[in-house]
Amino acid sequence: MIDLADARERMIDRQVARRGLRDSRLLVALRQTPRELFVPEGLREFAYDDTPLPIEAGQTISQPYIVALMIDAARVQPGDRALEVGTGSGYAAAVLARLAAEVHTIERHADLAQTARARLARLGLANVETHVGDGSGGWIAAAPYDVILVAAGGPAAPQALKDQLDLGGRLVMPVGEHAGEQRLVRITRTAANHFEEDDLGGVVFVPLIGEHGWSEGEVQARRVGEPRSFRPAAPVKSTPALIAQAAEPLPDLDDPAFGVLFDRFAGARVVLLGEASHGTSEFYRARAAITRRLVEAHGFSIVAVEADWPDAASLDRRARGRPARPEAEPPFQRFPTWMWRNREVEAFTAWLTAWNAERPMDRRTGFYGLDLYNLSASLRAVLDYLDEVDREAAAVARERYGCLTPWAREPQAYGRMARTTGYARCEAGVVKTLTEMLQRQLDGAVQDGDDLLDATANARLVKNAEAYYRAMYYGAADSWNLRDTHMFETLTALLDARGPDAKAVVWAHNSHIGDASRTEMGLSRGELNIGQLCRERFGPEAALVGFGTNTGTVACASDWDGPLEIKRVRPGLPDSYERAAHDSGVRRGLLDLREGRHPDLRYRLLEPKLERFIGVIYRPETERWSHYSACSLPQQFDAYVWFDETRAVTSTAAAAGSGEEETYPFGL
Ligand code: SAH
Repeated sequence: MIDLADARERMIDRQVARRGLRDSRLLVALRQTPRELFVPEGLREFAYDDTPLPIEAGQTISQPYIVALMIDAARVQPGDRALEVGTGSGYAAAVLARLAAEVHTIERHADLAQTARARLARLGLANVETHVGDGSGGWIAAAPYDVILVAAGGPAAPQALKDQLDLGGRLVMPVGEHAGEQRLVRITRTAANHFEEDDLGGVVFVPLIGEHGWSEGEVQARRVGEPRSFRPAAPVKSTPALIAQAAEPLPDLDDPAFGVLFDRFAGARVVLLGEASHGTSEFYRARAAITRRLVEAHGFSIVAVEADWPDAASLDRRARGRPARPEAEPPFQRFPTWMWRNREVEAFTAWLTAWNAERPMDRRTGFYGLDLYNLSASLRAVLDYLDEVDREAAAVARERYGCLTPWAREPQAYGRMARTTGYARCEAGVVKTLTEMLQRQLDGAVQDGDDLLDATANARLVKNAEAYYRAMYYGAADSWNLRDTHMFETLTALLDARGPDAKAVVWAHNSHIGDASRTEMGLSRGELNIGQLCRERFGPEAALVGFGTNTGTVACASDWDGPLEIKRVRPGLPDSYERAAHDSGVRRGLLDLREGRHPDLRYRLLEPKLERFIGVIYRPETERWSHYSACSLPQQFDAYVWFDETRAVTSTAAAAGSGEEETYPFGL
């Protein structure tokens, strides 16, 4: 007796995966669907053969590969509503039901429909409805559909079916003048009256019989042959090949054409520009070039960055020509100094100053810090406190703060924290120190116009401060959420303050701007971020742009508060987006990931892969756990900017004692 479970696995591997259909959701759906239940009793041992099989009413159950190919071509996504024309055995409907939210399937033979309905119910698939009738005109009652699959061949794609596609919807069906020799086509509705067509290769299906298909008479006259099994002529394109095809070449970073490429986002209220590390020159320079274009040509007047509010304010005073505070200490004195004290930021703020100098105050572009909370000063205060009272706990804290990020999972660091009894004992002292420090800061805050913007956010912080500090001390998700909510509130306060037409560019790490609700961060750990909050608030008027690299050098530290080091970035791991982008051969390119741009690529990239996050800390030795997290790139970002090889930022803080601090950022 043949082991059907084993045969199913072999079918998935040999007939589907090895032919290039590797989407894991599709493979799982095939694994969950016992095909032997959909063939006549006597044919069960052939259920996983690479061929269509005869079923009742003279019809056929499609070859497994064809079912997989059609579903893959239709890019079925969670949440989709799908229609299948030609239920037959019900097998394809069952697979579809595992992938889409709602499936309607229609069959002209009532007895086939009835058997299929019973099978689907037996498998507990409550999201499928089986209808009886002529499906060549669709099933209007549940339209519009994201996906329509037609399992029988007609002379052409019926207009009635195309009309029942939602915007962006995909219709996959065999068409051909001569029934028996058909092409599998995919029709995508790109606009109300616009459809795009792709040819997926030659196939043989049973005829679509009905008002918008063939008539019974025609079918008799043409004596349509039996469907034969189908072998793909050319393998399905690999992910790197799809990336290479879709990537738009990036001009030189100093070429004005670089920024122009991003004009597609000029209509947004908020353009969020990410980075895959806090110490990569290309990311800063690319963001500067894009921002410059958005300011010069499209009226963006706010540049809001992942930096402490008071430090950024000091740069803003220069950039907008506001009077400096004589008593203020030079900005960005604390770890990680290289993040904002580097040649790349200098060049950008120098340009901004020159741009503003030509304009009246109310038309100048401001430079703001979103992290008004002063995170690094707080961490510094914790370390100072612990150095005094418990040096062992201080060492643990230094290591812990290195992975105060939503992506790092470093079990060994957690372990050491648990073993250090002093760590927990110090909690009360730490929270007290921080609360006092915050109070001092607030008391000392000068209430000039711009600083008033802080007032509401500050009040909220004081209220939550204790919980925040405790969460921060232990590195919990709550501290991340409070911080990102805070950044978002600061951003919206800035937009409100600059009027209803104000538009902002945000510079923050990919982990802050890539929609967290669509990644492991949000799905399994309840973490949110500023990108997600912007999407929720501004919808399509928020543009989320991620950045990535394969290898090169990066400015970073090994532990929180540690010295600046230039480390080599390891090449992307197998099964990462970085590896796929590297394998595409694209040295530098822009991937537009918005729906409808490069649908095949978008669909392929939807399936979660590893993505690398390097913050101020980079620990190549534990890279997989410290820096990689599973994400769905096209759900996180509207676009992805790729530099295959990158180099470290040039820190201007390194030359301490050279007098550079006093003249930062313009002294050279
Ligand atoms: N998806 C099926 C394959 C069925 S073969 C499976 O997985 O088993 C195609 C089916 O389309 C046949 O059962 C045929 O009866 C049905 N069919 C043909 N023309 C149709 C029409 N106009 N409306 C509904 N079903 C139709």
